[in-house]
Amino acid sequence: MTLKGKVALVTGSTSGIGLGVARALAAEGADIMMNGFGAPAEIERETAAIETEFGVRTGYSGADLSSGAGVRQMVADAIAALGQVDILVNNAGIQFVAEIVDFPEDKWDAIIAINLSSAFHGIKAAAPGMKERGWGRIINTASAHGLVGSASKSAYVAAKHGILGLTKVAGLELANTGVTCNAICPGWVLTPLVEKQLQDRAARNGTSVEQEKLALLAEKQPMLQFTTPAQIGALAVFLCSDGAKTITGAPISMDGGWVAG
Ligand code: NAD
Repeated sequence: MTLKGKVALVTGSTSGIGLGVARALAAEGADIMMNGFGAPAEIERETAAIETEFGVRTGYSGADLSSGAGVRQMVADAIAALGQVDILVNNAGIQFVAEIVDFPEDKWDAIIAINLSSAFHGIKAAAPGMKERGWGRIINTASAHGLVGSASKSAYVAAKHGILGLTKVAGLELANTGVTCNAICPGWVLTPLVEKQLQDRAARNGTSVEQEKLALLAEKQPMLQFTTPAQIGALAVFLCSDGAKTITGAPISMDGGWVAG
């Protein structure tokens, strides 16, 4: 239990990768502040499961991270519920797929706000406490799309490239404070965010979701298998460990070879 006594705030942890990261950090003893949307009963169930399985404290903030005020509210909720924030995982994200000429402006604004600006606001609110205590870990869920582009994903690719820039600057600014900031760059992970893309592709191409799974992987990812949220969680645990003390400002790929080619 390497993270006993630490508090981790994981944004977008009611689903997918965020939930996997929250569970992995809890397994190492961290108290967990959850965030994200979903049915209250389901969120209650996940939170209670984390408490009983791992013997840690939990809290939940339903703050909407599309505004700076929402992000500041979430950090304040975490401090009120669990005392402090030692580990901040900026993970909440959304996707929308269309070519630039057809891309709705409100979708562009929403993706930039949630996938990029929320991490800036979160770091701004949580880093001062980490610096004061001389220890902190900031982990941004970026993407292979932080390093390379794909057609029809302008806002997402722009936000993910942006979050890698933010990661570098935070890493530099916090270099001698005991606080590191890194980014995980996953390839395909089978979560609701990707399931929606699979369903849209199957409807468009007159195929099945199972057929589209293989097609999706084959287009981009030499290793023809999905990374799991638990594997992303394992990388997050490593980034919180003493072994990762001098890793900062770094994009770390976990993408089955996507950006190697
Ligand atoms: P998901 O849809 O399963 O989870 C997204 C989470 O973000 C949910 O908890 C949702 O409630 C929350 N969220 C969305 N909008 C929010 C808002 N305005 N305020 C607060 N919470 C909000 O998706 P996922 O695949 O687990 O994605 C998590 C992160 O991983 C995203 O940043 C995504 O870009 C990134 N990512 C995913 C993949 C993949 O293949 N699934 C690959 C690379 C990167």
